[in-house]
Amino acid sequence: MSASQRTPNKIPFQAIKGTHDILPAEARLWQAAEAAARDHFELYGYREIRTPVFEATELFEKGTGQTSDIVIKEMYTFVDKGGRSVTLRPEYTPSIARAIIEHRLYLEPAPLRFYYIGPMFRYDKPQKGRYRQFHQADVEVFGEADPAIDAEVVEMADSLLGKLKVEGVEILINSVGCPKCRPDYLNALRRAAETKRAEFCPDCQRKIETNPLRIFDCKVEGCRELAARFPLITDSLCRECAGHFAGFRSHLEAYGLRYRVEPRLVRGIDYYTKTTFEVVTSHAGQQNAILGGGRYDGLMQQYGGPDMCAIGFAMGLERLLEAARPGRREEKVLYLAYLGQAAKVQAAQLARDLRGQGVECLLEFKERGLRAHLSRASKLAAAWALIVGEDEIHKGRYALKDLATGRQVEMNGEELLRYLREEVGRGQKEK
Ligand code: AMP
Repeated sequence: MSASQRTPNKIPFQAIKGTHDILPAEARLWQAAEAAARDHFELYGYREIRTPVFEATELFEKGTGQTSDIVIKEMYTFVDKGGRSVTLRPEYTPSIARAIIEHRLYLEPAPLRFYYIGPMFRYDKPQKGRYRQFHQADVEVFGEADPAIDAEVVEMADSLLGKLKVEGVEILINSVGCPKCRPDYLNALRRAAETKRAEFCPDCQRKIETNPLRIFDCKVEGCRELAARFPLITDSLCRECAGHFAGFRSHLEAYGLRYRVEPRLVRGIDYYTKTTFEVVTSHAGQQNAILGGGRYDGLMQQYGGPDMCAIGFAMGLERLLEAARPGRREEKVLYLAYLGQAAKVQAAQLARDLRGQGVECLLEFKERGLRAHLSRASKLAAAWALIVGEDEIHKGRYALKDLATGRQVEMNGEELLRYLREEVGRGQKEK
């Protein structure tokens, strides 16, 4: 090890508070979980949509909402060199709605089903399961009002968690009403909260005016106890919302899904209407909501788009990976153990041909003796070592050593290709 490779006593740069690196061993699990999510969403007819990481600040102020904690406290907002206020997206729904309107995707036959996987940014208080840059898998359906879709979205989330072997999940559901029935309920809440104003935390005192629903999100025990005696929204729904909620529940039951009605589940974003839901798990400690979502039937119009209802959810990947056990991608890898300069050139050509056939090859350019090569191959967890020496080149036959059994067989180039291609293919089928 050279002097420059030694660990320095002081690390000059570290990842910014609330952000984290995903190192290679962990990245394999991320890849597996992301691939499982992608495949799963595609099975239900969802297609990927990718939008920029930052947007005009106003998009979130208008959509996510002026009274939401996200907009009030958590946005990464800055003025760019052109004097525009831009924000690193704290959630994905506003970006999708913007893209649909901008590209007139609403002219395509409804429903539109989209998904996306990527980073979000919130200036939150960092703790286990809560980061400032975190990752979400996001799913949205536009243009379907039938409560059957609400249930299908929940079923899709639940079956994905099943595939990823997440245990101990619970589905919580609620309805937060609509602009017809919610104002009366908000007034009832305000009246109830007003009688206890002095007992609430300063944050909740402010919420009594701005949006009393948000009091249900407060983590302060005293506020929670007071809020537990508030009237319930499920008792104030209009006929349409009550009918929708009943339909949603009966479709969930038709799937055989167990759920709990949680009348205080309001979610931290302003645009929700009717259905809201969360999937929580007992595995992730304090931050136990793996995913959350709901309907947002008014958002498109709020953005100046068509009257198009929508529903979606966002799943936190950090929290998912705390609870999930996705199967690792275990590729069988071939290590090329060449001996001498001519063999090194031959090994590079062989590696190119094998990689062209889908065989993962490890070729390092530091020259080693056979023993050093074999010990390096084991260290890198290779499945085989291919011994390429002067003699092998001359004969056109190579020794393939199975590093698990120690068995060694001699093959020519063609036999080698055929054998490894089959082995790799078999490995992929077993996955
Ligand atoms: P939300 O967009 O707030 O409804 O959150 C949806 C999901 O994203 C949550 O259930 C979490 O799994 C995840 N999530 C939200 N905020 C954070 C955060 N700061 N750090 C990690 N995961 C988060």
